[in-house]
Amino acid sequence: MTRILHDDLEHGFATRAVHSGQVPDPLAGAVMTPIYQTSTYIQEGLGKHKGYEYARTQNPTREVLERNVASLEGAAHGFAFASGLASVDAVLKLLHAGDHVICGENVYGGTHRLMEQIFGRLGLHFTFVNTRDIKAIDRARTPATKMVYCETPTNPMMLLTDLAAVGDLTQAHGLLFTVDNTFATPFFQRPIEHGADLVLHSTTKYLNGHSDMVGGLVVTKRDDLAERLGFIQNAAGAVPGPFDCWLALRGTKTLPLRMRQHDATGRRIAAWLDGRADVPKVYYPGLPSHPQHDLACRQMSGFGGMISIDVGDPARARRVAEGTRIFRLAESLGGVESLIGHPASMTHASVPAEMRRAMGLTDSLLRLSCGIEDPDDLIADLEQALTR
Ligand SMILES: *Cc1c(COP(=O)(O)O)cnc(C)c1O
Repeated sequence: MTRILHDDLEHGFATRAVHSGQVPDPLAGAVMTPIYQTSTYIQEGLGKHKGYEYARTQNPTREVLERNVASLEGAAHGFAFASGLASVDAVLKLLHAGDHVICGENVYGGTHRLMEQIFGRLGLHFTFVNTRDIKAIDRARTPATKMVYCETPTNPMMLLTDLAAVGDLTQAHGLLFTVDNTFATPFFQRPIEHGADLVLHSTTKYLNGHSDMVGGLVVTKRDDLAERLGFIQNAAGAVPGPFDCWLALRGTKTLPLRMRQHDATGRRIAAWLDGRADVPKVYYPGLPSHPQHDLACRQMSGFGGMISIDVGDPARARRVAEGTRIFRLAESLGGVESLIGHPASMTHASVPAEMRRAMGLTDSLLRLSCGIEDPDDLIADLEQALTR
């Protein structure tokens, strides 16, 4: 009898990160989950098989990843997708034409584009509000509202949404509450514990953590939503390949170790930047000067490695972004390597300029994803780029 360690919430987070969802391979007993690189499975007779018929519908490597992340988020079901945006797409497909969604105004640029330019055309309606303000969410509610969607902390302004307060509001009005937990990861924040119905990830970022694949994942505790998501995953077919699932699964095993280092480095670099007169603004929820630091301490157990800074003018932002040597100028975040980005022209270029200005996303804003290199080297690198 195989002993399976899954949805085993009596174990600690790091134990579950390594073991949850995993079964020793029945053929050879391989300790690590094999990559089931196959599109189909043999049937012994008509309707006689091992539960696997076709790889869009079922793949053992993918299932292990799904169970693993579900366990880390304290959910019961997980569904892997080909990208983070494919997981947002799947969640929005739970809705019907005519339904209304209240969404954070500072969500990932691609999420905003998917909502407005694709689902808007298909009959969903969106109101973008500052979800930091519970009253603004309540005011945006109409009889057609079916979902509240948010990211916390937001990208790149690092604003927080009070998860428990939104959880209460959505529960009181029977709305689905969806949280994109890509930035915090379940190591620092578990939205389901605060009342979220659906939690999604771009596994491309911290869950994989090594910048070597693209993927997404949705988890839920609710059996009814799981049944519908499973249907959408198979019917729409935006599934990840087994090798990418295996890479993401290799990543989640070290998630606690990596997040502790991202957090330690993030705190140190944020404090160092905050002390510099030539950096007018530092956005990091772990700084006591962050306007929502108390909330951050309540709903997060760490603050991670994402920091945004406003360096005052766009020309200087360009010089800094092009002047770092260890921080690589690139889109994306959450890998072991440090990255620097210019949201206005990179990740958030698809957000209308007027909306960017309204939320403080200026042309002089830079976003740092602090990796796990030596913090002293990272600080020296930023120092030389800021003083060029
Ligand atoms: C990157 C990202 C996404 C999109 O994920 P992809 O894997 O690039 O499709 C969604 N939300 C957040 C917060 C992200 O950082």
